Amino acid sequence: MKEVFKLDHVSKKYVNDGKEFNALNDVSLEIREGEIFGIIGMSGAGKSTLVRTLNRLEEVSSGTVSFYGQDLSELNSKEIRIVRREIAMIFQGFNLLHQRNVLSNVMQPLKIRGFPKEKRKEKALEMLRVVGLEDKKKEYPSRLSGGQRQRVAIARALASDPKVLLCDEATSALDPKMTAEILDLLNEINRTRKLTVVIITHEMSVVEKICSRVAIIDNGELAEIGEVKEIFRNPRSDAARKLVFPGNPFDPSDKDARLIRLVFDGLAASRPFIAELVESTGIKVNILSANTKSVGGIGYGQMVLELPKDIQDQNTVIKFFEGRGLSVQEVKGA
Ligand code: ADP
Repeated sequence: MKEVFKLDHVSKKYVNDGKEFNALNDVSLEIREGEIFGIIGMSGAGKSTLVRTLNRLEEVSSGTVSFYGQDLSELNSKEIRIVRREIAMIFQGFNLLHQRNVLSNVMQPLKIRGFPKEKRKEKALEMLRVVGLEDKKKEYPSRLSGGQRQRVAIARALASDPKVLLCDEATSALDPKMTAEILDLLNEINRTRKLTVVIITHEMSVVEKICSRVAIIDNGELAEIGEVKEIFRNPRSDAARKLVFPGNPFDPSDKDARLIRLVFDGLAASRPFIAELVESTGIKVNILSANTKSVGGIGYGQMVLELPKDIQDQNTVIKFFEGRGLSVQEVKGA
C-alpha cells in the first residue's frame, strides 16, 4: 500500500516565555493510502500540532514530513499551495462563511482554485448530494444543525477533489447521534471515493467506530501505533491503557494495594474466572472495575483487580490467570 504521509523523527519546539517546549518529540509514523487513520491523545498532547505539520501549516523544528514521497520542506510557496489543495481539512468549529448560503460556501474553494465558473455550481451540487444536503442549498449556516453544518464543511472540503481529508476534532462539538452520522458519512466517503482520512480526536469511541489504525500521542511523543483492534485487545503503553480503559469506578481498599489488569478476548470473556479462582484456590480478589466491548464483532474485556496483601497469594492468583491464557498487567497509579 502506498504511503501518503511519512513523518521521520519529527520534533516541534515552541518557545513560551523564553523557555523551550517540545510539543512533538521524535515522532515517526506513516499514513497509508485509503486508510482511516486515527490520531488520539489527551488535550495538549500535540495532536493539532502534528496534524498541522501534514500540510506545513506548521514548520517542523527537526525531522521531515513527506507527502507521497515529497519532503514538504523542500517546496516553495507556490508548490505548497498546490499540495494543500490535495489535503482538505475540516474542524470542530466548521469554519463556514455565515453571510453566504450553503451552495455558495461549497463553491468558494472552487472559485479560489480557478475552477471554470460555469461548472462550479454543478460541482458544488454534486458534493451536496454526496453529503445528503442538496435540499438545503439556499439555507444559511445559522439555520442548520451542527451535524448539517459539518456536512456542508465536508462537501466544501470534497469540492476540490482532495486525496486526503484531515478531520481535526470534527465531531467534538456534536451530540452522539450527529457524531455517529458524521462518522458514517466519513466512512462512506472513504470507501466510495477512495479518500484517505485522518481523524484527530480525544475520544476513543470515535477511533473505535471508524479507524483502522491509530497513533496514540502522549506528551508530544508517539506512545503506540497499530491496528485499532490490536490496541484494544492489548494496549501496551500506559497512555493506550488509560484511553482504552479509562478510570476505575472503585478505589482500592488500601492505597498501597497491588492492582492487576486482566485483558481477555471474546472467547475467554464468557468464562467465570473469578468464581473459578475462588473455587480452586480459596483466594478472593476485589474487583475494582470491569468492562467489555465489541470491536469488529469480537468481544474484548478487561478487569482491574486488587490482589490480597499476602505476596504468596498474589503470586498464586497471577499464576492462576496466566495459566488460563489471560494477559495480566500490573496497574500503576490506578
Ligand atoms: P492537542 O491538539 O493535542 O490538544 P496541541 O498540538 O494544540 O495539542 O498543543 C500541544 C502543546 O503545544 C500544548 O501544550 C500547547 O499549549 C502548545 N502549543 C501549541 N501551539 C503553540 C504555539 N503556537 N506556541 C506555543 N505553544 C503552543
